Formats: sequence, C-alpha cells, structure tokens
Amino acid sequence: FKARTSSAFEVPNVKPEDIGGYAEVKRELERALRIVGGTVELPAGLRHDLVPRGFIFHGPPGTGKTLFAKMVASRLGATILVVSGPEITDMYVGESERKVRDLFAEARRNAPAVVVFDEFDSIAARRTGRDDGGSRAGNAVVAQLLTELDGFRPEVPVLTIGTTNRIDIIDDALLRPSRFRPVKIDLPDLAARLEIARVHAEHFGVPVAPAVLVRLAQATEGMNGDEIRSVFREARVGQLLGDGTPPDARRLGVLVGELRRARQQRDLDRG
Ligand code: ATP
Repeated sequence: FKARTSSAFEVPNVKPEDIGGYAEVKRELERALRIVGGTVELPAGLRHDLVPRGFIFHGPPGTGKTLFAKMVASRLGATILVVSGPEITDMYVGESERKVRDLFAEARRNAPAVVVFDEFDSIAARRTGRDDGGSRAGNAVVAQLLTELDGFRPEVPVLTIGTTNRIDIIDDALLRPSRFRPVKIDLPDLAARLEIARVHAEHFGVPVAPAVLVRLAQATEGMNGDEIRSVFREARVGQLLGDGTPPDARRLGVLVGELRRARQQRDLDRG
C-alpha cells in the first residue's frame, strides 16, 4: 500500500486586494518578493545570500495563511505545490524523506515554484532526540528539508512556505534567518474585518450598505477571515433559495449570531 498524495501544480491567481487587511504583512512580503522576483538588481556575488529561502506563516486557523501563500506564488508567476504536513508524516519511515526529495525535484523542474507545507508543525516540530519511531521519522524529514533549503540555487527559484498555528514547536534549525522567515498572521483587527467583509460581499454578489458592513465588522470581533467569508456565503445561499431579495442588516446579524453560537458549541464539545 502506497499512500496517495494530493499534490498538484497550478498557477494561482490571488491578488493583494483579494486579501482584506494585513497591510503590514503585505508590505513585508512585497519587500522580500522584489528580491526573489528579480525586480531589484542584486550584486551577482550576493544573490545566494540575499534571496530568502522561504517563510513560515503562523497564526490562528482560518486567517488566510494559505491564501497568502497563493498570493506569493501569483506575484512571482510561480507554480504552486501544496502538500499537507500530516500526509507526509503518515508515510512509512523512509517514504517521507523520499517524498520531500521528490517534491523539491518536481518544484525545481517547474521553477519558479512555491512549495507550501500546510500544518508544517507536523513535519517540522523540534527534534526531540527521543528514540521512538515517530520522532526518528520526523528528524529525517527535517534533515531532508534542511538539505533542500541549503541546496537552494537562485537561478532555479523555489520558495518554500510552511503554515502553522504552532510556531512554538517548530525546530529552531529551520527558524535561522538564512532559512525560514517567520511572518505572523494574526486574527484580523476591526479595519481588516471591514476589508475582508467588503472583499466577500463583492465576491458573493451580496449588496450591503457601507454602514451595515461597519456594523458587521464590529460584530465579528474575534472571528477569522474564513468565518467572515462564511457569513456572506450563507447570505448568498439564503438569497438563492429564498425569494431572491438580498439580505438586510437584520439577516446578516442573525447569520453572525448563528456563527458565534456554532463556535461556542464547538468549544463546549471540545471541553
Ligand atoms: P488554517 O490554519 O486552518 O489552514 P489558513 O490560515 O491557512 O487556515 P486559509 O485557508 O488561507 O486560512 O483561509 C480560508 C479562507 O478564508 C480563504 O480561502 C479566504 O476565502 C478566507 N479568508 C481568510 N482570511 C482572509 C482575508 N484576510 N481576506 C479575504 N479572505 C480571507
């Protein structure tokens, strides 16, 4: 039995304006991308030292970390290969390292490329040194990753991005400045929630008055971008299944309330 993986190349199309808020993160990425993308003339001898190998996008779930990875790939005109960390660690000992090696070989063949590891912590957790099978496999995968990162050649640009909610357990060897640069993607603040709401109101074709969007942004304190998106998705579904009238402020308020209750219930169920 050979574990199947769902990796597939595509060139994404996510523009900065498709992501609401996070101006600071966008600015930071743009600086790095000008160097990776070659729009800044780099002294030949310094190319290898100056081009970043990759990023770790870290923060709570649903905040757009994968979305940012796609934006990075779009900006570079790069193909993107998204793999889930657990997919790799669930493989047999030896298979995981081979998978990582094959992934990078494939990425180099398709360069410029961005390799994204979702749930990066599952493969890049700190090496424990304990002698159990699990951590041994983990160690070997981290070692393979380090080999791939250190073998980086600027003329074959392959950028590696890990996404995680557990930056605290990521192996320090990967967090050295010459390897992954950590970028924090936190829960959206009020201004970001307003922009996210605007993005998805437009995407789903739900007409909402500006004042109502502001109220929605205020009511979604503590929620992530994915949850704000779901309000508009539900609103649109309701409109399609109902009599076709767009949702009013009251209806949107009800949807936000439902979301909050569903989340509280989830927290209760988890204990
Ligand atoms: P996880 O940690 O659970 O993997 P994530 O941080 O990678 O989550 P994404 O999968 O990128 O989150 O986000 C899910 C969806 O939520 C996105 O595809 C997008 O539709 C929406 N979303 C999240 N943040 C934003 C944002 N800032 N602007 C617009 N849409 C957003």
